Amino acid sequence: MSQIPGIKISELIAEAIKLRKTLHRYPEVSGQERQTAGWIKAFLEKYRPDQVIEGIGGHSMAAIFDSQKEGPTLMLRADMDALPILEVNDFPHKSQYDGVSHKCGHDGHSAILAAISAVVAKNRPSKGRLVLLFQAEEETGQGAEKVIKDPKFQDIKPDFIFSLHNLPGFKKHTVIIKEKAFASASKGVIIKLQGRSSHAAHPEKGNSPGPMLPELIDGLLKIPKSKTDFQDFTLITVIHVHMGEVAFGTNPGDGVVMATLRSYRNIDMQTLTEKVEQHVRTLAAKYKIDADISYAEVFPATHNNTWCCEVIEQAATAGNLTLYPINLPFRWSEDFGHFTLNYPGALFGIGAGRNYPSLHQGDYDFPDEIIKTGVMMFYHIADQILNLSNKDV
Ligand SMILES: [Zn+2]
Ligand SMILES: [Zn+2]
Repeated sequence: MSQIPGIKISELIAEAIKLRKTLHRYPEVSGQERQTAGWIKAFLEKYRPDQVIEGIGGHSMAAIFDSQKEGPTLMLRADMDALPILEVNDFPHKSQYDGVSHKCGHDGHSAILAAISAVVAKNRPSKGRLVLLFQAEEETGQGAEKVIKDPKFQDIKPDFIFSLHNLPGFKKHTVIIKEKAFASASKGVIIKLQGRSSHAAHPEKGNSPGPMLPELIDGLLKIPKSKTDFQDFTLITVIHVHMGEVAFGTNPGDGVVMATLRSYRNIDMQTLTEKVEQHVRTLAAKYKIDADISYAEVFPATHNNTWCCEVIEQAATAGNLTLYPINLPFRWSEDFGHFTLNYPGALFGIGAGRNYPSLHQGDYDFPDEIIKTGVMMFYHIADQILNLSNKDV
C-alpha cells in the first residue's frame, strides 16, 4: 500500500522536495547546522508537534508527538550536516556556499523525517510517543554522542530507534538491511613523533623521525593481516604522513602519521587499537623518539537489533517495497552506532540507483524520487510500534 490515510502524498512529497532543495542550497558543515535546524523547525511547526526541543548537544533538535498514553518511545533519526566538498553540479538548487555541499544526502534524510511530522499530525500515535530527531554533526562522528550526553536527552530516551541512509550502488527504492553488524566501527589515529632537529649537514647531531617512518607505516599495514588477533574483518588505511619542513638545510625533528582503523566488530576495534599503540611504543623506544597518540572521529559499529530488523522487513512489505538483505557489513561507518550501542535500534539503506554517483563525490545529489520511499518506510515503522490512528476516521 503506498497510501497514507488523510495525506495527499504527492503534495506532501512536493513540499518535502522543496525543503530538501532549500537545505541543499544552504549547506552547513558539522557543528554549524544552525540555519539548517531553523529551516526544518519552520517546516515542522506547521504540523504542531506537542513539543520541539532545540539545541540538544549542539544544533540537534527533536520534535515530539505524544499520545499521553502508556507505551514505547519510538525515535526516528535523520542526520542534517553537509560536507566540506565543492559541488560540481550546476542546477537551480546548487549550493550557494563555496566548497560546502550536501554530498551524503543528509538534506534528503532530513526532508523525509520532516515530512513524517505531517503524516503523524494526521495519524497520531494511539500509544507511547514518537520523537523525530534531527541530528547534527554526523560526518565527524560527534553528533550522536553529544545528543546522548545532553541532559535534555534524558526526557526523550528511546525504547527503539531507527534511521535510514540512501545508498548509491543499489537499485532505486530497494530496502537494504542486515541483522547485527551493519556498518563498521572506525577511528582516526594521530601519531605525533618528536625527535630533535639539527643541521642537514650533521644529521648525527639530531634525531630525525625519518628512519622510523617506513617501519612504522609497514607495521601498521600489517596489523590487520593477523589471522589470530581478530574475530572478523579489520583494516588500517594510512591517510597522512608529514615530516619536517621544506628546508634543505634542516634535518627534521618532528613528524606525524595518521591512519584510519576499521573493523566490523567493536571488540576487534579494541584489539586493533591496542596493537597500534603497542607497535608505536616499541618503535618509539627503538628509535628514541617521543610518540604521542590521539584519536579523532570515533565511530562504534552500527549493530542492528533483530526485532527492529523484523519491523523494517514488515514495513517494507506493507509499503510494497523490495527488500535487499546483504551478507557482509558495510566498511563505512555511521555515528548512529552510538545509538545502537545504547538502545535497541536499526539502520537501513534505501537504494539511490545502481549507477548513481557515490556518496561524498562532487557530482552527487540526493535523488528526490526516494523521498516517498523513505516516508513510507518511516510511516509503516511508526504504525507498527505506536498504532497510528487517523484523526478523521
Ligand atoms: Zn557521509
Ligand atoms: Zn551520511
